[in-house]
Amino acid sequence: MKFALKEIFIGISLALLVFLALQGFEITPIILIGALVLLFKFTMDNRSNSRFTLVEQKKAGASVVPEVDFSDIGGQEIAKREFREALDFIRLDKEVRNLGIRPLKGILLVGPPGTGKTLMAKAAASYTNSVFMAAAGSQFVEMYAGVGAQRVRQLFKKAYAEAEKANKQTAIIFIDEIDVLGPKRGKNTSHMEYDQTLNELLTQIDGITVNQQVRVLVVGATNRIDLLDPALLRPGRFDRIVRVDLPDKQGRLQILQIHAKGKPLAPDVDLAKIAQATFGFSGAHLESVMNEAAIFALRHKRKQITNHDLKEALEKVMLGERLNRNPTEQERIRIAYHETGHAMLSERINSGSVASVSVISRGNALGYMRQHGKDDQYLYTKAQLLERIQVCMAGAVAEELVFGERSTGAVSDIEQAAKIARQIVFAGLSDLGVVTSDLPGGILARTIAQIIKEQETEIYNYLAENRGRLHSLAQKLMEQETLSGEQFRQIMQQSA
Ligand code: ATP
Repeated sequence: MKFALKEIFIGISLALLVFLALQGFEITPIILIGALVLLFKFTMDNRSNSRFTLVEQKKAGASVVPEVDFSDIGGQEIAKREFREALDFIRLDKEVRNLGIRPLKGILLVGPPGTGKTLMAKAAASYTNSVFMAAAGSQFVEMYAGVGAQRVRQLFKKAYAEAEKANKQTAIIFIDEIDVLGPKRGKNTSHMEYDQTLNELLTQIDGITVNQQVRVLVVGATNRIDLLDPALLRPGRFDRIVRVDLPDKQGRLQILQIHAKGKPLAPDVDLAKIAQATFGFSGAHLESVMNEAAIFALRHKRKQITNHDLKEALEKVMLGERLNRNPTEQERIRIAYHETGHAMLSERINSGSVASVSVISRGNALGYMRQHGKDDQYLYTKAQLLERIQVCMAGAVAEELVFGERSTGAVSDIEQAAKIARQIVFAGLSDLGVVTSDLPGGILARTIAQIIKEQETEIYNYLAENRGRLHSLAQKLMEQETLSGEQFRQIMQQSA
């Protein structure tokens, strides 16, 4: 029907042109303008289409449902359960219609980068046997008014068309970084393009009904839900919000196990220990650890991935690639004392906590001290926070004790210590008592400096009392470049 209308329109236009030409009108400008309009439309259509990825059809005619299911996602038990419950509205279509429930149109996945939101959306498509279309919010943002809105229309059109082609009743449209496409309206004063794009998305979502042959579900992902326009979040649009958080220890173990599939592990590998050591890692980080470990094994011509490969990979993902920076001898001595300071305080506070100390440059660091992971911890007392400040500042204090002055090597330590001290202040744990966020900046800065200063005195006294140990350890570190936690503790005991 649509095609017939188009053809009738083209036919009438051509007849009109011939008629005008016969009447002696100059039709060249009309033809030129028409050609330009057609060219523009063709280009925009092509660009819009090529910007959206339909999950690969491996072979022509193969399924367009992604080959990812919920068992490929480690941890995230609550998120998976909530998500599946929401998706059951689509699977139980008949029951939902019979009860007169309005269709579920949008689900929003909220969480930090690399936690598996895209995986979840793909698994949703497998679970509901839907066609899967993916786009990112940034693909809709253009300088020209109306282009973003047109792309939104194209995306929905394509989803309906692909589902029909694949003979599916449902299509999932996944929009990553939806905060770029749907920020609060009226905020972008330069032009109204953002608002038009968002309006089009709302119109398309509102246009989804139960009676359509193909039902579309929009899955959005963001880590900045606070930026989204409230209109997107109102009931009837993205009315299910699923939080996808960083995995806990058990989740990390499951993710490691998933990514260890197909990788031969040596008997000395204990993935539970790696899971323990990786608090704060996302799924993407963990995938990278397994991959890097396999690369290390290959580099050393090993047939199996060893515990050593995994430790190397962990340090690489945590701190960055080893670098061929060549500090001078004087700098290396300073770095050795700096890192030894960190490690001595770490051991003093929590015996057995040092995993390794090194004077090898990695990422932004000229040396590093890595601690063993502890059990996941979400709450800290004031004493624990002060101890963390001590570990942060011990490098700079060791330098001061030995060389009489500090260096620029402590910049990121100071940042970290100040962040913890700030936490103490705003948790109401400082001498100021309970404070609000409008605490004058001057008082805040003074309090933070005071907290750090007090800890530095404590560190200085401890290191001064243990000066002999500090020298022996730094000396050994200089010689060996890297010391494992065990070696460090052994030397620490021997030099007591
Ligand atoms: P972003 O917000 O940056 O787009 P995301 O939350 O969508 O990230 P994904 O793209 O789904 O994250 O994950 C990236 C990769 O990390 C995946 O391809 C997978 O290898 C790994 N990964 C992340 N989370 C998990 C998980 N829970 N289980 C298994 N693998 C995971």
